[in-house]
Parts: sequence; structure tokens; C-alpha cells
Amino acid sequence: MPQTTIKPLAIFGGTFDPVHLGHLSVAWEASELLDAEVRLMPASVPPHRAPPMASAVQRVAMLRAALQGQSRLTLDTRELERSGPSYTIDTLIELRAEQGERPLVLLIGADAFAGLPGWHRWRELFEVAHIGVLSRPGVEAGFPDELQQVVANRRVQHAAALRHTGAGKLIELAVTPLEISATRIRELLVEGRDPRYLLPEGLFDDPGLLAPYRR
Ligand code: ATP
Repeated sequence: MPQTTIKPLAIFGGTFDPVHLGHLSVAWEASELLDAEVRLMPASVPPHRAPPMASAVQRVAMLRAALQGQSRLTLDTRELERSGPSYTIDTLIELRAEQGERPLVLLIGADAFAGLPGWHRWRELFEVAHIGVLSRPGVEAGFPDELQQVVANRRVQHAAALRHTGAGKLIELAVTPLEISATRIRELLVEGRDPRYLLPEGLFDDPGLLAPYRR
């Protein structure tokens, strides 16, 4: 495929229980580094983890509040509209059908990427998208052997290389490390604390938004 001038479409999935400044900051930087449209895509029933504390409706309300005032990061709720578990491979196949040859980039934090061999049909992900790995504090550099083998010939250093083809490459995106996790934020909220500068300001405008985490 010739080099395209169409911006890549990057997908950043997660439980967002709740969305925090770590998510937003790395998604923002990824969109700058890749010159891509980035869609935040909340997962309904993550196949590989405990159910979220907040409902799908509540998580979407928080995401909407968080994304106000900018247009670089958008929201895509398709996985919540699907019944049953939301497998990333199914979502990417659907997006590929919609987007034609447009480069697709699946953004994954380094911790989640290390667990990729546990994902449903994980090897096929490279057939439909590139993967962008976002650095995350506390995650050691080593990835499992099985994963190393699959990515060995896929690595590219420069974002421009992702525009030559629609899928199949791996890029490591050195985003500013922010040691923020939703787990820690939920702990603070349960304790009655107010983690104001770890969360987007909009989440404090409506006290109902953080109610799912309060005791
Ligand atoms: P939890 O603590 O509940 O596991 P989380 O903070 O890791 O949540 P998720 O919604 O599970 O958030 O993460 C969605 C995606 O965002 C994953 O790919 C994860 O690796 C990435 N991510 C989350 N926080 C950060 C961060 N601070 N830096 C880089 N990537 C992050």
C-alpha cells in the first residue's frame, strides 16, 4: 500500500473504572506521536479480569465528563453495545471492515501487552492492526518468549512506518511515565479520600459520577 495521508485510527481499550489522568495523558501523547485519531473504547465484560465496580453507563458518563473541552480523544462505545464478552479481535475486524485500508493502531499499556498471549486469538491481532505499546512505570522491559518471537520482525522505530501499511507492525511509544492506576484510585475513594489531581477535573463536577466507588 502506498504511503497514505490519512491519519491512522488508534484504539485505546480498557475498563476505565474510573478513567484517570494516566489514561488520558498517555492517549494524548500517543495521538501526538502517531498523529492519529485516538478513540477510547470501554470494555463491557473484560474476559480476563474481575468485573468493574462501576456499571457500563456510569463508566461512559465518567469518560464523557473527562473528554470535554478537547477533540483529539474521542469515545467509542461499540463494545458496550455488544452482548457477551468483548474480544479485541472482533472489534478490530469490525473496524477494519469500516475503515478500509486505513492504518489501525491498537494502543496497549506495557503491563497489558505483557499479558497479550492470554488474549483470545491474539496472534491474529497483527493481521488487522498495528500495536502501539505505551510505556508504564513499574513494568519490567522483558516480555514473554512467545510474545518476543511474534514481535521480533514487526518492530518499527518511527511512527511514519505505520502509514506504509494498514497492520502488522509494533511500535513502542515512550510516553511520559505517570504512576497512576485505577486500582489505587478506587482504594482512595473507598477510604473517603479525594484523589483530585489523579482524576480529570470533570469527574468532580457531578458528585454522582464517583458515587460507585464511595462506601
Ligand atoms: P486497574 O488498576 O483497575 O487494573 P488501569 O489503571 O490499569 O486499571 P485499565 O482501564 O485497566 O486501567 O487500563 C486500560 C489501558 O490503559 C491498559 O492498556 C493499561 O495498560 C493502560 N494504562 C492504564 N494506566 C496507565 C498508565 N498510568 N500509564 C500507561 N498506561 C496505562
